[in-house]
Amino acid sequence: MLVRRAVTAARTHPLLVASSAAAAASLYYAAATSPSSTVPSRIHWNPRFFSSSALQTQSAMQYPVNKPDSEWRAQLTPQQFKILREKGTEIAGTGEYDKHYPDKGVYECAGCGTPLYTADMKFKSGCGWPAFFDAIPGAITEITDRSWGMSRTEIVCSKCGGHQGHVFRNEGFPNPTSDRHCVNSVSIRYNPDKQAKWEKYSKDAAK
Ligand SMILES: [Zn+2]
Repeated sequence: MLVRRAVTAARTHPLLVASSAAAAASLYYAAATSPSSTVPSRIHWNPRFFSSSALQTQSAMQYPVNKPDSEWRAQLTPQQFKILREKGTEIAGTGEYDKHYPDKGVYECAGCGTPLYTADMKFKSGCGWPAFFDAIPGAITEITDRSWGMSRTEIVCSKCGGHQGHVFRNEGFPNPTSDRHCVNSVSIRYNPDKQAKWEKYSKDAAK
């Protein structure tokens, strides 16, 4: 069963819960054809880019921005396509925004431009990828990812389904939440001109 829910918003709004038999089937197929569960965490996985579930197609999902792969390939760089559309992962410590800590601005989806995270949601996790303790309500959708013999929670852009990374919880970071959104730098684009702040969204989400 595939479970989608909006991060943050799901805490207060029971919306965006949906399932897709087709997507679940593709997930099952990806898991069934994956290497054994001895594959370690992605921190130790060496190839520069790999697809955690290459056979899971975004076209099985319904998102407001829904383009065929041919259009995504024309729009995105090969690196962006590999990560955003084929769920790849950039190697730890190499991303443009790994050690990027601006005072203001937002990080937008590199695929569709939707604001996903504010600068003040970002924190130093030391994991080698950009880390955020929260997301703009409704901007991120979670998907249960059972590829590679593991059960993880994938995070994608709610508007275009672009793969962002995974979310991990209860790791003990001194943050306002217990979450770590582990995001590929390739999946996001920093926009210094938007002035959104986490506090504002926090209040909105609490309504
Ligand atoms: Zn997007």
